[in-house]
Amino acid sequence: MKENDIRPRELHNRYLELSKKDADKVFSNVEWAELHCPACSSENHHESFVKDNFPYHECIDCESLFQSPRPPQNAFEAFYVDSESSNFWATEFFPKVAEVRREKIFAPRAQRVNSILSEKGLKNGTLIDVGAGYGVFLEEVSKVSPLDSFKAIEPSKSLAQTCRDKGYDVLEEVLESSEAWHETANVITCFEVIEHVHDPLYFVQGLRKLLAPGGIAIVSGLGVDGFDIQVLWEQSKAISPPHHLNFLSVKGLEKLFLSAGFKKVEVQTPGELDLDIVENYFKEFGDNSVLPRFVKKLFNKGPEAKANFQKFLKDNQFSSHTWIIAKA
Ligand SMILES: [Zn+2]
Repeated sequence: MKENDIRPRELHNRYLELSKKDADKVFSNVEWAELHCPACSSENHHESFVKDNFPYHECIDCESLFQSPRPPQNAFEAFYVDSESSNFWATEFFPKVAEVRREKIFAPRAQRVNSILSEKGLKNGTLIDVGAGYGVFLEEVSKVSPLDSFKAIEPSKSLAQTCRDKGYDVLEEVLESSEAWHETANVITCFEVIEHVHDPLYFVQGLRKLLAPGGIAIVSGLGVDGFDIQVLWEQSKAISPPHHLNFLSVKGLEKLFLSAGFKKVEVQTPGELDLDIVENYFKEFGDNSVLPRFVKKLFNKGPEAKANFQKFLKDNQFSSHTWIIAKA
């Protein structure tokens, strides 16, 4: 898989541009509040950089990176419900990459979830996908998984309807404020949501409450320990306010899920794209780039060496694409 397959450069840049404009509109007249580390609650943190007027702090204790001071939750809700960039994502960006993403992201994701579940001996029960979007993951996982039922939690009206049209039972609410499905799930999945949420602890507690005793949550998101984030830092396109607020470390994620009441937490980084993302940055910005000399040398290596390097990142919790497997 290559970055350009799932995130064509022009579309991605246009999306980032629109996001910047939206952010100026929605967040300029509201009060921003400081927060402590959203992973480990430490008060020991300092500002690392400001990007597009959004300051980001680094936690000294767990090394997570987080946006602070932060606009209030209701401003984010307004931003997601109806903004030019969200509409662009839903109507222009996603439809163009939907089928590529089904093949390159959602089908392998379903396989991975399935093998985690069979490893854990989970063969029946209900799976709830939180932030189900267009329901593509549910379609793929229901093809391969032996579980009995597949449901969605999706707060966006149009996306919830898309999931319903595909035949899934949908709770059209924000996870944190819904109690209807508490303790009904044997498996929770939640992909690429945690970097967006206003209060990660509250959110992960919400995931925990959905699980029946012994259930498992499988969550993925962007981690700060990843190679592309560490190398590109504030230049990283993944650090895109106001969408991506939380880049938690492996250590921080473990603490966060334990604080939210999970009994056992495992963090994996199965990402494929770190080196490709950094190389694309280099191609786009050439000699002006801030890349260390060693990283530039990596680009001259052949595909096998590059694959080996990416494998090293995966195996040592150094990819930014992070999975958390947590047992209730
Ligand atoms: Zn921390």
